[in-house]
Amino acid sequence: MSANKLHVYNTLTRKKEVFTPITPGFVGMYVCGPTVYGHAHLGHSRPAVTFDLIFRYLKHLGYKVRYVRNITDVGHLVADADQGEDKIAKQAKISKLEPMEVVQHFTNSYHKNMDQLNVLPPSIEPTATGHIIEQIHIVEKILEQGYAYVSMGSVYFDVEKFASKYNYGKLSGRKTEDLKANTRELEGQDEKRSSLDFAIWKKAQPEHIMRWPSPWSEGFPGWHTECVAMSTKYLGKKFDIHGGGMDLLFPHHEAEIAQSCAALGHDSVNYWLHNNMITINGQKMGKSLGNFITLDEFFSGMHDLLEKAYSPMTIRFFILQAHYRSTLDFSNEALESAEKGLERLLKAAALLEKIKPTEKSSVSFEQAEENCYNAMNDDFNSPIVIANLFDLVKVINSIVDGKETIDLPNLDKLKSLFNTFVFNILGLTQEENSDNSNNLLNGVVDLLLNVRMDAKASKNWDVADKIRNELSDLGFEIKDKKDGFEWELK
Ligand code: ZN
Repeated sequence: MSANKLHVYNTLTRKKEVFTPITPGFVGMYVCGPTVYGHAHLGHSRPAVTFDLIFRYLKHLGYKVRYVRNITDVGHLVADADQGEDKIAKQAKISKLEPMEVVQHFTNSYHKNMDQLNVLPPSIEPTATGHIIEQIHIVEKILEQGYAYVSMGSVYFDVEKFASKYNYGKLSGRKTEDLKANTRELEGQDEKRSSLDFAIWKKAQPEHIMRWPSPWSEGFPGWHTECVAMSTKYLGKKFDIHGGGMDLLFPHHEAEIAQSCAALGHDSVNYWLHNNMITINGQKMGKSLGNFITLDEFFSGMHDLLEKAYSPMTIRFFILQAHYRSTLDFSNEALESAEKGLERLLKAAALLEKIKPTEKSSVSFEQAEENCYNAMNDDFNSPIVIANLFDLVKVINSIVDGKETIDLPNLDKLKSLFNTFVFNILGLTQEENSDNSNNLLNGVVDLLLNVRMDAKASKNWDVADKIRNELSDLGFEIKDKKDGFEWELK
């Protein structure tokens, strides 16, 4: 393995830094998980695949990794503001379900999609509703330190007081003066001292279903508090990596830093890592834009914007083909070329298993190995890894064609290098090729119908009718034509 050290880009310092864990050999990593009020869509796949790559690589380097990814099942209001309805409660009302039924349903669906994408489950998956007491403790600590105030049963974080001692905005690069100029006074803000303040405990309105007792009111925690409570509970007051999508930088992660500084007196996180956003045909994703495509829709092809179905591995490979900090634009053309690339890679992996070593070797792989590790050590640069793997695909094909030779030690090396990166680190898998099985089915049905034509030609009506009837029973619709036949599976 390369002696080069792992470097990660820290959003907080805006620099690549040598990764040094707090406890040698152990990494604590927290990633903001989904809010479970709808099916997982494309936007969910990028943080999941990005931090799965990071999780896999850290483990590959020999670290023991405790990866915590939460489920937000309360306290995330529509428009992510302090006013409005709980997203989960709103969905529960629409579908006439208990809010926890909504949560369970979409959590199950999220897990199914993550399995399809070959995303490893985290070490701990805590839920916000399972940690109300811990969140109340955080609110109490912030109040004790004087960085929050109670107003009409709700508790608000006092941003201006906090900013007089700490740097509010250091993660997102926003300044409090600019923020203040940009926030409009909204209805209900008279409870707050400043429009910058955010709720860390909210008194529930009578119609609000999800509510818990607290020292201040029957209510619910603010969204930003859950991640502070759960990350520090499972990873300690200081931990290594906190990740999430760039859309969470502000206000969510900024507010997390403010709360841990206010409650604990210091930052909890050493390295902040953020994946960039996904666009579709150059446009931001949004429900109102009609380009909100769920993962299930990608896998089935059932969406107006999709020309066909794309397999989970195609989506995973497509995400990995871009560096996690670059933007990524989805289009049918781009996905089709990802599909072809993936096929080439996986075909080479299968060919590799069949190669027989010779006495002499015309190839060696030290340089390729170093390139792959250097790329991963340079802030998890998966596109460079993939480019190097494609160079290896060429070598594999040349060996198969007899243009190059390989001896046993080099063959072992090539297998270990190729399989480690393709399967263990990038997390790709050989999918059951549905195109292939479709082709097989088409071939077999055509063969049977040709036998039937021959039978008819030799007036063997029993055989001809038997084939026709049994295929119809199986759901095939057969139409006889002048020069042959047509069939369809109904
Ligand atoms: Zn979070």
